[in-house]
Amino acid sequence: MAGVGEIHLRRDETPVLSVRNLVVQHRLRRRSFVEAVSGVSFDVLHGETLALVGESGSGKSSTARAVIQLPPPTGGEVALFGRELQGVSPEELRQLRRKLQIIVQDPVGALNPLKRVRQLAAEGLEVWSDRDPEKVDAMLTAVGLDPEIYAARRRRELSGGQCQRLCIARALLIGPEMLICDEPVSALDVSIQAQIVELLRELQGSMGLSMLFISHDLRIVKSIASRVLVLYMGRVCEVGDADALYSSPTHPYTKLLIEAVEGGAIEADPGEIPSALEPPSGCRFRTRCPAADARCVAEVPQLRQVGDDHFVACHHFPDEAR
Ligand code: SF4
Repeated sequence: MAGVGEIHLRRDETPVLSVRNLVVQHRLRRRSFVEAVSGVSFDVLHGETLALVGESGSGKSSTARAVIQLPPPTGGEVALFGRELQGVSPEELRQLRRKLQIIVQDPVGALNPLKRVRQLAAEGLEVWSDRDPEKVDAMLTAVGLDPEIYAARRRRELSGGQCQRLCIARALLIGPEMLICDEPVSALDVSIQAQIVELLRELQGSMGLSMLFISHDLRIVKSIASRVLVLYMGRVCEVGDADALYSSPTHPYTKLLIEAVEGGAIEADPGEIPSALEPPSGCRFRTRCPAADARCVAEVPQLRQVGDDHFVACHHFPDEAR
């Protein structure tokens, strides 16, 4: 029998990244822990961008870290490029990780302040012959950093957006097949965010990359994601084709996120996420959901299909006899 999160998986091709029933627990004290991710499953197919969306504490970043085995998940399976990661040797894991590069939230902190732009861009290249200045400069140009102007600069002479462009160039020079972008624009000025997202979208398309794009902001995700997976307190609420999810959001939590960015009337309680130490029974969203009832307290909602490539974990939406 399919468990939570299993039924929406695509089976028509080998995914670039396949995650099954992922569980991530963080140990607090000797005998206590919080479960940051509870049975999450998804695939990322070749050339697509899957966005993981949710508020702080939803489990997005814990999921991303578990994918790269830093640290390995508490439970579940992760397969990268068709290779199951559990039990893989450190050397093979290192080789696999080169095909999967990460763009982090803090580009400034990711750059050595003593090095110059051209050195920083080439930092990840292990083979010296690959550090061909022409190749490096071509990538700097591709991300919008004219080498004639920027190659000799240091970090302090770049803006936050330029630092992120440099981090993107450094990651792409390694030749990845997939990028994990973990809140890549949340530390940047709003005016710069759209430019960086557009750059990532263009590069993803031209280089045929697959992408896992993590964000708390559905507005940012809208222009780049082909599919969206909404997480709340470590569980999948809704997953589907981005257009379907934006045009017909179904889970009350997805509606809340969309209403929050569009400034419409908010039906659900926009208040706090409950403590992860004592997650609500049944549906974890029930303490904020205006439609919660006794069934929501007692039963964990399972994902069910509501449209082509559109799945929702809710007892009552779309309408189901109560
Ligand atoms: S299962 Fe119940 S509490 Fe959870 S989102 Fe649906 S209606 Fe709300």
